[in-house]
Amino acid sequence: MNASNTQPPLNPGDQAAPGTPGSGEGICPVCSGSGKTPDGKDCPNCGGSGRIIEGIGGG
Ligand SMILES: [Zn+2]
Repeated sequence: MNASNTQPPLNPGDQAAPGTPGSGEGICPVCSGSGKTPDGKDCPNCGGSGRIIEGIGGG
């Protein structure tokens, strides 16, 4: 099957792949959207983007 990197790797905080129907971007709850930890490192939950893909439950 397709094992190539057609999509970027998901961050631990992502609940769905980008573009997934019923999902949307949200502020990372770990770093509050800053993308950094208090130590000044990239937030491990969102990968430093400050945002995560949330599953917006439609049902
Ligand atoms: Zn984060």
